[in-house]
Amino acid sequence: MTAPAVEEPWAAQRDASWYSRPDVRTVKALHVAGREGREGFYSRCGRSVLNDNECWDLAEVPPGLRCRSNGCRQAWPVEVTEASR
Ligand SMILES: [Zn+2]
Repeated sequence: MTAPAVEEPWAAQRDASWYSRPDVRTVKALHVAGREGREGFYSRCGRSVLNDNECWDLAEVPPGLRCRSNGCRQAWPVEVTEASR
C-alpha cells in the first residue's frame, strides 16, 4: 500500500513523465491530487493520473511549482503571508 492514509488533499506529479519522455530539465508542476474510489488518483485539473509514490503537503509546495490550471488552482491553500502584497 503506497497510498497515503490521509484525508487531506496532497500534491503529486504526473505519472506519465516517468517513462515516455523523462523531462529532467524543466521543473515539473505539482498537481493537487484527489482520490477516486479506492485506487484512483487523479489531478484536480483533470489532466492525468498522478504518481502516488511521492507526495507533498500542499503547504510545502512552492507557489512556482503549483499547477495553475482550473481545478488545481482553487485547491491550493491560500498564501496569507506573501499573497497580501
Ligand atoms: Zn493540475
